Amino acid sequence: MDEPTLRPGDRVALLVPGSHAYVDAVLRMLTAGVFPIPLDPRLTPGEQERILAGLEPALVVRSEAALAEVAAGLPEAGLPLGRPVHCTSGTTGVPKGVFSGLLSPADAASLLAEERDLWAFSPGDVNLVLSPLYHSAPLRFAMGTLLAGGRIVIPGPFDPAAATAAIERERPTTMFCVPTHLQRLFAHWDEHGVPDLSCFRLVAHAGAPCPTDLKHRLIAAFPPGSTWEFYGSTEGQFTACRSEEWLARPGTVGRARPGRTLSTDPDGTIWCTVPPFARFTYLNAPEKTAAAWRATPAGPAFSVGDLGRLDDDGYLYLDGRREDLVITGGVNVYPTEVEQVLGGCPGVADVAVYGVDDPQWGQRVCAAVVLAPGGPSEEALRAFAREQLAPPKRPKEYAFLDELPRTLTGKVRRTELAAR
Ligand code: ATP
Repeated sequence: MDEPTLRPGDRVALLVPGSHAYVDAVLRMLTAGVFPIPLDPRLTPGEQERILAGLEPALVVRSEAALAEVAAGLPEAGLPLGRPVHCTSGTTGVPKGVFSGLLSPADAASLLAEERDLWAFSPGDVNLVLSPLYHSAPLRFAMGTLLAGGRIVIPGPFDPAAATAAIERERPTTMFCVPTHLQRLFAHWDEHGVPDLSCFRLVAHAGAPCPTDLKHRLIAAFPPGSTWEFYGSTEGQFTACRSEEWLARPGTVGRARPGRTLSTDPDGTIWCTVPPFARFTYLNAPEKTAAAWRATPAGPAFSVGDLGRLDDDGYLYLDGRREDLVITGGVNVYPTEVEQVLGGCPGVADVAVYGVDDPQWGQRVCAAVVLAPGGPSEEALRAFAREQLAPPKRPKEYAFLDELPRTLTGKVRRTELAAR
């Protein structure tokens, strides 16, 4: 079947697993002025339909063969590199398409220079790809590496044994991961031994809160100075934090990146100004775009609905998401704070806190707990909460699970827990 000819400005949805050719095709589309929309190839037909309806692609590519054909038939426009349309994870609703449009040559050059300067990709880099490439951060790492003349290694869907084998075989210099990856890697290494990690110069994590113990372990296991955290979303990367900064200020996600300013509202909502090349709209969702942006003296700022605090030196601490905030009897309870406290109870392996509608309180605080062997009883956990938390923050109900439901990006599916 003949594919329609793509023209600059067209959008192409990619429902294809990540590979070297995939990243290459994404880069070629961008220089042809065609906007790739990387999507999870395992979406069900119903999910695909819901997401694609809002994105209106000119073409949907469903196989590697079709992708190769599309890449070969692209116009040689030689346009400055723009940004793919990235879709958010949909943790809080239907995924939103983040769209920056065609960048001016100057803006495109600034975007490239900024990425290059931050992570310093070079021809010697080997990027180990652990996350699916339809997420913005892993795709940016892979694209940046290829653009710099480096190499990418994709061991396939995340598996700690395969990732370890790839580390031993390919000696990667960089990787991007979410805390769940680190947790699973360390659990694997506890059993089978830690591989030689001296090849890494950059290990960056983001996407979900990293438990304190895991963070210490990460910093100790990888070469000094190689571990970074950043706070960002599909919409952009707001901060970057070296391990030394985190050790000096445990729990911070760092300071604003150059060219950005962070501020918080009295309710904790985080706002970030960005340079012109990092501005975006939500595709076909003007009301969501309007709600995300506002004018500030420092320039247009946007919010993705995260809550946090800034210290006097500008270091940001996250308090979770506005959607997850539990308001019980008129009191605001931040699930992440309660999770951090309960996670410190000996024998608690994992914990998620969420609100459930309550006729008396509006919402009541509930906790889902995964116990380590020999973990505390419900009564012991309640006693621990009484010691450590003010009454409104103490969970009224506990559910004991074998595992927390999480998205692939490592985020707890709180709405699923609340619905149970
Ligand atoms: P949707 O907007 O569709 O609900 P999503 O926000 O889950 O999806 P992503 O862009 O994948 O989509 O996730 C970004 C979110 O991840 C941030 O808004 C923030 O809540 C969380 N996050 C990112 N980095 C960190 C970090 N370092 N620590 C804690 N949470 C983080």
